[in-house]
Amino acid sequence: MSKNQEENNMMEKIVSLAKRRGFVFQSSEIYGGFASCYDYGPLGVELKNNIKREWWKAMVRQRDDVVGLDASILMHPKVWEASGHLESFTDPLVDCKDCKKRFRADHLLEAKGLEPGYLKEKPEAINEIKCPECSGQLTNPRTFNLLMKTFIGPVENEAAVTYLRGETCQGIYVNFENVKDSMRLKIPFGIAQVGKAFRNEITPGNFIFRMREFEQMEMQYFVNPKEAKKWFEYWKPLRLKWYQDLGVKKENLRLREHGQDELAHYAKEAWDIEYNYPFGGFKELAGIHNRGDWDLSRHSKFSGKDLSYTDPETKEKFMPYIIETSDGADRATLVFLLDAYEEIRGGRTTTTESSKEVEVVLRLDKRLAPIKIAILPLSKKPELEKVAKKIQENLWGTYMTMYDVTGSIGKRYRRQDEIGTPYCLTVDFESLEDKKVTIRDRDTMKQDRVAISEVLDYIDDKFKS
Ligand code: ATP
Repeated sequence: MSKNQEENNMMEKIVSLAKRRGFVFQSSEIYGGFASCYDYGPLGVELKNNIKREWWKAMVRQRDDVVGLDASILMHPKVWEASGHLESFTDPLVDCKDCKKRFRADHLLEAKGLEPGYLKEKPEAINEIKCPECSGQLTNPRTFNLLMKTFIGPVENEAAVTYLRGETCQGIYVNFENVKDSMRLKIPFGIAQVGKAFRNEITPGNFIFRMREFEQMEMQYFVNPKEAKKWFEYWKPLRLKWYQDLGVKKENLRLREHGQDELAHYAKEAWDIEYNYPFGGFKELAGIHNRGDWDLSRHSKFSGKDLSYTDPETKEKFMPYIIETSDGADRATLVFLLDAYEEIRGGRTTTTESSKEVEVVLRLDKRLAPIKIAILPLSKKPELEKVAKKIQENLWGTYMTMYDVTGSIGKRYRRQDEIGTPYCLTVDFESLEDKKVTIRDRDTMKQDRVAISEVLDYIDDKFKS
C-alpha cells in the first residue's frame, strides 16, 4: 500500500469508527448530508465536552488572572466593520473553468510545496497550476469573504443584516470594560470563551478539520504593550504543553511561525501549533497571536467609547495589547482521536476470535475518554445483574459508565478498547461469594480484584494519578 493510500485509509478508519460507535455523524444524513456540517453522537459529545472542560480548567479554573465569558453569537454589525472582517476576512478563491469546482488558491500552492504566503508575493504563480480534479484551467484568484450573513427581524433588507460570528473573540473585546469593571481586574488579565463560530469556507473538508460551523476555545490576554513579547513567549509553550499533557505524541506536534506575508490583518506576530495529520502532514491545530492594539483601538474608534487603560499605580495610560490563544474544539477532537488510535494485529487478548482480528485500542487520556468505566456482568443471570447495577448506580454522578451484558467477555473488552474506556469492571460468580469484582486496565490489561465496597475509592485513586 502506498503512503498516500495508507494516509487516506487512516482517515477512513477514524470516520468509520466515529460513525459506527456514535462519536460523529454527518449532519442531516437522511437527506443526503449537509456539506461540512457534523453532529456529535452520544460518545462524541462526551469526548468534546471533556476536551472543553479540560481547556476551561487549565485556562480559567486553575488561574487567578483569567475569567470566563459567554457572549452572544449575533452582535451589532458594526462589530464586524470595526474588527476589519468585512473588509479583510477573505480567502483567495479560484474556479476551474472546466469542471466549475472551487478551490482556495493558497491551499493549491501549498500542496505544491510552496510557502503559504507565496500567493501574496507572486499571485501569477497560480497560472502554473491546473485544477486538481480535472486538470482544467483555473481562473485568477479573487477575494471571497468568509463571514456568514443573516437577517435580524422580519424584514430582509440591508438595514437588518448582521453576521454569524466568524471568531468568538470579538464578543470578548466588546465586553472588555464590562468584565474589567465588574470583576475589578487589573492588567495583565485574560478573558476566556468557548463557543460556536461560522465561516463560509471555500473548501471545507477532511471531516471535522474544516467545517462551516465549528467551535472555538479562545482566551484573550490583555497586557501592557511593553510586556507583549514576554506574555507571548509565556503562552506559546503553555498551549503546546496542554496537548502534550493530554497525551498527544510530541513528535506529532510542532510550533510554526507565520511569515510576515501570511499574517492576518490584525496580527503583529503569530505562531501555529501544528499537528501531523494523515492528510498532507503538519497543519494548523491552534494559534497564538499577538494582535497588538488593533482590536481595542478599532472598537474605540467605531463605538466612540475610549477603551484605553490607565494603570492604577503608575498612572500610565495605554491601549492594551492582546495576546490571543485560539484553539478549535473540533480540530482538537479530531487530533485526540487520530493520535489515540492504535491497531494491534494478531490480537492482544487471548480469545480465539481476537487472535484472528485486528484489535483497535483508542488510547485516550482517561480525562478525555467518553466512558470512564464499563460495567460487565459475566452473564445475564439476575443475581449477577443485580450486583452489577448496584455498582453502576454507586458510580453515577461521578463517573460516566456504560453497562454491557451482551457477547463474550473478550468481545465486550474489545468494544470498550475501541472507544477508549480506561477501565472495565466484571462481576462474576465468585463475586457473589467473595464480594469482589475484577477491574481491568485498558492499556496494561492488568486485572485487579477489588472489594465491591472499595470500587469507588479504587477508581478515584486512578483518576487522581
Ligand atoms: P486555517 O488556516 O486552517 O483556515 P485559521 O488560521 O483561519 O485556520 P484561526 O482563525 O486562527 O484559524 O482560528 C483558530 C482556530 O479555530 C484554528 O486553529 C482551528 O483550530 C479552528 N478553526 C478555524 N477554522 C476552522 C474551521 N473551518 N473548522 C474547524 N475549526 C476551525
